Amino acid sequence: MSVVVDASSAQTLVKDSCDSVRRKLQSFPRVSLAHLPTPLEPMDRLSAHLGGPRIWVKRDDCTGLSGGGNKTRKLEFLMADALAQKADCVITQGATQSNHARQTAAAAAKLGLGCHILLEDRTGYTNTDYTDGGNVLLDRLHGATVGRRPGGADMAKEMEILAERLRADGRTPYIIPGGGSNPVGALGYVNCAVELLSQASDMSLEIDHLVHATGSSGTQAGLVAGLAAAQSDLNLLGIGVRAPREKQESMVYDLACRTMDHLGAGFDIDRDRVRANCDYVGPGYGLPTDAMRNAVRLLAELEGLLFDPVYSGKGLAGLIDLVQRGEFSGARNIVFLHTGGSAALFGYPDLFSSK
Ligand SMILES: *Cc1c(COP(=O)(O)O)cnc(C)c1O
Repeated sequence: MSVVVDASSAQTLVKDSCDSVRRKLQSFPRVSLAHLPTPLEPMDRLSAHLGGPRIWVKRDDCTGLSGGGNKTRKLEFLMADALAQKADCVITQGATQSNHARQTAAAAAKLGLGCHILLEDRTGYTNTDYTDGGNVLLDRLHGATVGRRPGGADMAKEMEILAERLRADGRTPYIIPGGGSNPVGALGYVNCAVELLSQASDMSLEIDHLVHATGSSGTQAGLVAGLAAAQSDLNLLGIGVRAPREKQESMVYDLACRTMDHLGAGFDIDRDRVRANCDYVGPGYGLPTDAMRNAVRLLAELEGLLFDPVYSGKGLAGLIDLVQRGEFSGARNIVFLHTGGSAALFGYPDLFSSK
């Protein structure tokens, strides 16, 4: 039996389910770091160029702190947890051009906490633009210490060793996992899910698909949990930037389940709702592809928007290719979640130096 609901009662349903998720979120410590809600804007020149569905952009590149990006939403909950545990400094890790490291350094600066960053060399690049420019320049500008580790190092263990050293010096460190991806950090994307649903409802916009770049999995896991808790059937697709599909999906599913437990909203995560497409990684994490390069240039020229070579550029390359292949046929509105990262463009200047 199908249930017919008129537009205004559908809006009431969305509002009620989002309100109940918001009440759950309010029981967690949180510091205000991000400019929220981030805008939801149409990309009309891109949509016309592709001749397909209308494509929108959710501007999480505009979260406000140090050039913005998706990690700031997670840090609202992670930094509040660090403060609740009386930490006086934070430790985190990422790849050399980590946007997460930059946003963590900025959040620590704003809250008066020390920040220690460990950067893993995942690309083998030795040019100084990559090793010390872009995000690394900003890590240091925000006053963080920057340590280096070789590719393949056990970064979780490296953070533990550093924490021990800091404790021996009388400090109280708080360890933030890579990408801020644990059930505490993922709450930031539970919040994004209800924010987007409310925005769409207010605009009477029916979103068919939400697409974004997925890496350490906290963004997608938070969205999966948030959409499930809000009882939304919006289709979510992560475009992978590192792991193969099976591994990426199981990472997201596992963290989505743990995030739902942590949230305490009591809904099950449907494994089928966790979908990643990992066909756009190319030769590896942080290594350029022609499709990424074309996508970054296209959006810069058509929409005046900046995407990055490691994450959002590969996510966009996936979105564009899937639209062109007709994978979204029948869809009216697709939202691309812009997770930020443009500071990394300055770590890869040669990629875009010639046309
Ligand atoms: C970290 C990051 C992502 C991926 O988010 P995860 O939560 O790690 O999956 C996507 N885009 C940008 C720009 C990022 O910095």
